[in-house]
Amino acid sequence: MPKAKYEIRRKCPICGAVFQVRTIDSVYCSKHCSDVAYKRKKDREAKEAKYEQLAKEIPDIREFLSVREAVAIYCVERDTLYREIRKGKIPSVNLGTKQLRLNRADLEQRYPRRKKVRKAAQKPIPKTYNMEPENCYIIGEISKKYRIHDTSV
Ligand SMILES: [Zn+2]
Repeated sequence: MPKAKYEIRRKCPICGAVFQVRTIDSVYCSKHCSDVAYKRKKDREAKEAKYEQLAKEIPDIREFLSVREAVAIYCVERDTLYREIRKGKIPSVNLGTKQLRLNRADLEQRYPRRKKVRKAAQKPIPKTYNMEPENCYIIGEISKKYRIHDTSV
């Protein structure tokens, strides 16, 4: 990288310190801040990958989602979502201890889907209804697959 010809000062996005850049494309004030930024980026990517994986396992026709699933599909943080639920801005049903379920339609209205999930959702959806016996579930299978109680099915 060529050395900066003139004194250029920037504000470090990590610690907020104003520093004189050594190269034109210096963004962080120090190796430490650069490392912190790198780690944050990696953490974010790992989180996104986890969301993407979970979102892939949730069929588009599923009407009710757990908070964990909702966070995987939509651009909303877990704490924010819980706050909105507590305020009553997002209706929820409780199927038992820690079994909160949200209606996908409410979430769809309120939050955009995560970018990678959006892409996946654009792919053609396989036939929704196929009532051949090998394609049907018994209630036990449904409750197991969707992790909800038999009586809710
Ligand atoms: Zn810094």
